[in-house]
Amino acid sequence: GAKDSGRNCFNFFVSSMQEAAQKRLQLIKDLHAALEQEQLVLHYQPIIGLETGTIHKAEALLRWQHPQRGLVSPADFIPLAEETGLIVPIGDWVFREATRQLLRWREAYAPGLQVSVNKSPAQFERSAGDEGWIDHLQTLGLPGDSVVIEITESLLLDATSKVARQLCKYREAGIQISIDDFGTGYSALSYLTKFDMDYLKIDQSFVRNMSRDPAGTALPEAIILLSHKLGLTVVAEGVETVAQRDLLRDLGCDYAQGYLFSRPLPAADFEAILKMQRGMPHGCVPMMGMA
Ligand code: C2E
Ligand code: MG
Ligand code: MG
Ligand code: MG
Repeated sequence: GAKDSGRNCFNFFVSSMQEAAQKRLQLIKDLHAALEQEQLVLHYQPIIGLETGTIHKAEALLRWQHPQRGLVSPADFIPLAEETGLIVPIGDWVFREATRQLLRWREAYAPGLQVSVNKSPAQFERSAGDEGWIDHLQTLGLPGDSVVIEITESLLLDATSKVARQLCKYREAGIQISIDDFGTGYSALSYLTKFDMDYLKIDQSFVRNMSRDPAGTALPEAIILLSHKLGLTVVAEGVETVAQRDLLRDLGCDYAQGYLFSRPLPAADFEAILKMQRGMPHGCVPMMGMA
């Protein structure tokens, strides 16, 4: 009767909760193994100068080559890595791998190339000091300004003195700081004048709405004006169409990143593009999406 089906329902609920908990535990185990067994890989997405039409920077984006599941995207494991603290050694690996790769590319193809890495609030919270990243750059012989660290608005919104000190140290070492996903979720702008930053990345949600609705250019336009007034360089994320690219260029946006130019690529594929671009004077060779 009703009581039985109620109990079945409850049992189902409990067993699916157990299942979820087991899946989570397994994922944590797998994530530990991923670090030890070198299953993590970086893909690189070109960031294009809208004036020159060439690659100036690459954003390093983490992927997990899972033995059974294939390529796992960061949205599916970074939250768990943050909860468990594994994000600190993982983030450390990302930094070392991205800068190792950058050094090779600067020496072989593009002396001015910059790499951009993401650092989440959890990484700032859970790690003591700068994790030796500044020393690591010096050991490699890379200048500080060859690296950009992408942080989120939320980090600045409730920045502790520890965070503020850390950001200062990066800046003193020449490392550049970029505000990622700008415009999502927060309306407080005061932090923009409180901290010294270099770049602001317009979130893809604004870029997406641009082509559809002419009124949709109001926000990107205002963000670009505001950024330039504050001395920030602007990168637009998620540029997928020629119309969006042209609009952004007309609005004075400095850099763009998105599927129109290229998806994030395995290192070898990114390198192939750098090779093609090598030796070509800025502006002469239309990059992907610039023709
Ligand atoms: P993000 O830093 O904002 O990175 C941009 C995301 O937008 C990337 O997703 C990229 O693949 C995607 N994207 C780029 N162009 C386009 C486009 O034209 N259209 C669309 N629809 N999407 C585009 P991805 O690689 O899945 O990374 C998602 C997020 O995961 C990143 O967002 C970043 O917050 C986080 N993440 C990735 N790698 C790392 C890492 O090494 N450390 C940390 N802490 N977070 C990372
Ligand atoms: Mg980013
Ligand atoms: Mg972003
Ligand atoms: Mg994002």
